[in-house]
Amino acid sequence: MNEERLQKVIAAAGVASRRHAEEMITAGQVTVNGVVVRELGTKVTSHDEVAVDGVPLAKQKKQYFLFYKPRSVITAVTDNKDRRTVTDFFPEVRERLYPVGRLDYDTSGALIMTNDGDFANMLMHPKFNIDKRYVAKVNGLPTGAQLRPLRDGITIEGRKLAPAHARVLSRDRAKQTSIVELVIHQGLNHQVKKMLKAVGFPVQKLAREAIGPLELTGLQPGDYRKLTHTEIVELR
Ligand code: URA
Repeated sequence: MNEERLQKVIAAAGVASRRHAEEMITAGQVTVNGVVVRELGTKVTSHDEVAVDGVPLAKQKKQYFLFYKPRSVITAVTDNKDRRTVTDFFPEVRERLYPVGRLDYDTSGALIMTNDGDFANMLMHPKFNIDKRYVAKVNGLPTGAQLRPLRDGITIEGRKLAPAHARVLSRDRAKQTSIVELVIHQGLNHQVKKMLKAVGFPVQKLAREAIGPLELTGLQPGDYRKLTHTEIVELR
């Protein structure tokens, strides 16, 4: 009989990320065959009945949402500074959702929220090359040629990044600002801001407009909608 670590089993069932599952175990929210288990190394088999907050894993429903994250919201499940978090926007969803990847506090836009650990890990894996489209307001008036290093693959902090689609959508000569579109598939910390700064055009404002086929059409900041079955299949 295959034995697995309890936190792995909980994550695989789509209840929480593995780290969050560990927190729930130590907090005493998890039972195995009706007995509270707080020991992180505990191993279980498919014959054991694992429950989180009294709900057996088998009854936890997998949920997938596209969320329009507003600015001034932290991409985390909890925040020790009491700032608004992305999960605050889902009070009526009883499953424990968490974000797939992250957007900066001051960045708005498309974010997938789910309780499916395998799906989230797959989307976040570096080899999973899903395009993410960003629109940035930058200082300055870049020319196409000045963005070329981004299209060729720029080196930042000693790391050569994959070539990105980068183009200027509009320029405001009076204000000396421009709107630039960038499509990337990696997800390094502050990547878009670092890329545009590296070519001399610091970002004032950033929004993620799309994740692969998922666009924000019809949503306002703070809104979310369920992913359709087709969208979930398309992303996998
Ligand atoms: N790149 C950034 O710099 N910030 C984000 O939030 C996302 C991508």
